[in-house]
Amino acid sequence: MFILPKLPYAYAALEPTLSAETLHTHHDKHHRAYVEKTNELARQAGLDGRTLEEVVREAHSKGAAKLFHNAAQAWNHAFFWPCMTPRGAGRRPAPPSAALKAAIERSFGGLSALNDAFVTEGAEHFGSGWVWLVTGSQGLSVISTHDADSTLIRDGLFPLLVCDLWEHAYYLDYKNDRKTFLERWLDEAVDWDFADRQLAASNGHGDGFRYPDSAANEDAGARKGARRLGDQPPPA
Ligand code: FE
Repeated sequence: MFILPKLPYAYAALEPTLSAETLHTHHDKHHRAYVEKTNELARQAGLDGRTLEEVVREAHSKGAAKLFHNAAQAWNHAFFWPCMTPRGAGRRPAPPSAALKAAIERSFGGLSALNDAFVTEGAEHFGSGWVWLVTGSQGLSVISTHDADSTLIRDGLFPLLVCDLWEHAYYLDYKNDRKTFLERWLDEAVDWDFADRQLAASNGHGDGFRYPDSAANEDAGARKGARRLGDQPPPA
């Protein structure tokens, strides 16, 4: 049984970049629904006791579309929340660390070029999906995936950041202006410290993102019975 993890900040903590109303709807309605449907379908498929990573990959390999879509969405959203950090009193997020900055400069030429690539990829992505900053054998790159598609099923790619491109992520605050949402998300809300920890983990230093595995991290009202979702393997 997978939990719905708590948000790592208050619902209003990302205002004015993202409203509390958006966070309530996105987390409490959309993410919760994916987790609950995953639990229902995974049980029916006899996958009790498996990690969510295993469920996502097995559902994908077997063509179990409904289970894959819900399980991958549950994981993608859990990864999305810690990619953002509260601004505090008029403060912008801390810039990338020296190690991440150097990796960005090697692959993109600089943070401004990375931001441009991220916004362009996300704004031009057709339909629903996700825009990711990933690392792999060729260095850092920006990719987008459709619907529930996830880096979990992309061998050799290790995610550093993701932003949700589904309209439910931004429509209440930005209507159809996805480009402005992405620009402000990068400028005001992104957590470069999280990306930095992911980059270090991809190189074997420290822990990468793990789905919260205890009832203490479970959102009130979510199903009980926590488990850990397992690590993302580093790129080959
Ligand atoms: Fe979403």
